[in-house]
Amino acid sequence: MAPFHRIRCGALTYVLALTVLALPRISPAAQVSYRADAPVTGDTQVDYYADAAGTLGLNDLMADASRYLRPLHASSVHFGLSTSAYWLHWSLQSRAAAPTVVYLSIAQPTLEDVRLYVVQNGVVRQQHQAGSRVPAREQVVAAGHPVLPIELAPEGKYELYLRVTSRMGMLLVPLRLESAADLEHSQRTSLLLNGLISGAFGALLIYNLLLFASLRHRAYLFYVLLLPATYLACTVIDGFGPWMLYPSWTWPSNQGLMLFAGASFALNMLFARALLQTVTIPRLDRWLLTVAAVSLATALCCWLPPTTWLYRLMALLCLVTPVSGALAGCISLQRAHPQARFFVLAQAAVWIGMGTFMLSSAGVIGFGPVVRQGITLGVTLNALLLSLALADRIRALKQTTERAESNARQILERRQQELERTVAERTQQLDQARRHAEYLAVTDALTGIYNRRGLLPLVQTAIERAQAEGTPLTLICFDLDHFKHINDDFGHAEGDRVLCDLVTLTRKHVRQSDLLGRTGGEEFMLALGVPLASAVQRAQELREHLQQHLKAGRERRPVTASFGVATLGPEFNSLEVLQQAADAALYRAKRRGRNRVEVYDEKDEASMRTRAMLRPKFGSSARLRPPKTI
Ligand code: GH3
Ligand code: MG
Ligand code: MG
Repeated sequence: MAPFHRIRCGALTYVLALTVLALPRISPAAQVSYRADAPVTGDTQVDYYADAAGTLGLNDLMADASRYLRPLHASSVHFGLSTSAYWLHWSLQSRAAAPTVVYLSIAQPTLEDVRLYVVQNGVVRQQHQAGSRVPAREQVVAAGHPVLPIELAPEGKYELYLRVTSRMGMLLVPLRLESAADLEHSQRTSLLLNGLISGAFGALLIYNLLLFASLRHRAYLFYVLLLPATYLACTVIDGFGPWMLYPSWTWPSNQGLMLFAGASFALNMLFARALLQTVTIPRLDRWLLTVAAVSLATALCCWLPPTTWLYRLMALLCLVTPVSGALAGCISLQRAHPQARFFVLAQAAVWIGMGTFMLSSAGVIGFGPVVRQGITLGVTLNALLLSLALADRIRALKQTTERAESNARQILERRQQELERTVAERTQQLDQARRHAEYLAVTDALTGIYNRRGLLPLVQTAIERAQAEGTPLTLICFDLDHFKHINDDFGHAEGDRVLCDLVTLTRKHVRQSDLLGRTGGEEFMLALGVPLASAVQRAQELREHLQQHLKAGRERRPVTASFGVATLGPEFNSLEVLQQAADAALYRAKRRGRNRVEVYDEKDEASMRTRAMLRPKFGSSARLRPPKTI
């Protein structure tokens, strides 16, 4: 949501600043004001006559003045939008001891035709014409608004008759009598203000033209077109245009005003549409388009013969356009459009400018050069704030781009992290699978102890270590007796269970440093780091233990095993030979009736050789890592 409080604060500050500016001037204004150093005194109230047909001449008026002229009961000379000609009459007297000149200054540049008749003792002594129909260059005093000189004889008394008409602008006639010095001072102030305003418009135009050249967005184009139209309309209203820009040309300050103002209104609406993207709010969008179209059509009517209804329409647009702008701003603000706050402030500036002008027209506040230019100042501030809105649009765009970039970067980083995580997971899974495969390769699937492939390299290592360190190592090979019968009598599954039981029972007899493995179907090997006698004793103990606890079938038939023992020594100095020897001893144990332990002796040599030929050799098979559990 847009920061509403900030907007309210901004508008409030502006209102306060203008109030402070206007306060010293607040005073019930007289209809005719006299500057302190103007060498003249006179009526502060005027008599007037509204000549609707515009045909009454001075002589007719003077001939029957009491019939026409009525006192004007108002705080200022203000007849609103009227096509009538107005006659004003008041009298004044010179305060100077010598002939002098005072100036009647009427600070309303849009008055079309202003004629002053200075009458003394019923005779017209001087008469001057001014207004927007007379080129500034040809006017008696070149200024931004009608200024008419009055030559005064010492102590001379004069009746002033002023005839004014205005179809374009408001018939506001602020009458002020001032000295040449006053006139010069107020003209200098006006020029300074106009210089500042022109500079601001010029700078904004160049800046936004460059922005449009690089950004190519419609909002900048409308704004760039809006600036000259608004500037030209303002300079007609404040008189700077006819005074300084086209002093010998009256078209711009008459029909031209309609063109400039109409174009300015239309472009204002088009700009609002483009900046606030009102296409998303169809009803508002249609309304803005309608106002733009009507404004443009009215602007183009400047080439038609002037008619009252056209002026009325233009006056209506003066009200409708800022209302529509404010409406568009507020609706967009409600919808949290980022530039709406600047837009609303810009509209507020116009409103305040217009309000100040209205207040001074109504005589509530004084009519100084700053207040007189209220509309121009408001419009200039409006242009400035709209330019800020456009600048803010660039900031918002930049922010959006940065946010999109950062989002894309974050997504990319997240994807990369996910990828790295997946790769790490997959690597870990592969590693686990490899380790599991290795484990399976050296482990007996049924009993969970080493298989032949896993056991023999370990025994080989143990032999090498024992040989190097001169420590004993004895090999026990054992084999279940008549295991075939178990399978035959109780089934293969029961045979498997007996094998598992054998391993469980054997494990109880195995120490940490011993190596146990299954070398064949029902054949096992145990490598012990002990001398022959101890090994034989351990074999006997195991045999007895198995005889006691290993049972098969429901009838719990005892199962026994036969053991062959051979120890590492000068004759049996390799795994192969040692294994053959233990095997030969086992074979003898079988022959001698089974369920017994036999140690290798020379008599076994023949059988050793025979069995060696039958047994698969352990050679250079790869040394695999041992299973974690025995
Ligand atoms: P001996 O006392 O002479 O050793 O007689 P035996 O029956 O135990 O020996 P033999 O070599 O004739 O038979 C061994 C049997 O062991 C043959 C085979 O079916 C069985 N066997 C080998 N491996 C397994 C196994 O993993 N599970 C089961 N249930 N039986 C097996
Ligand atoms: Mg057997
Ligand atoms: Mg066997």
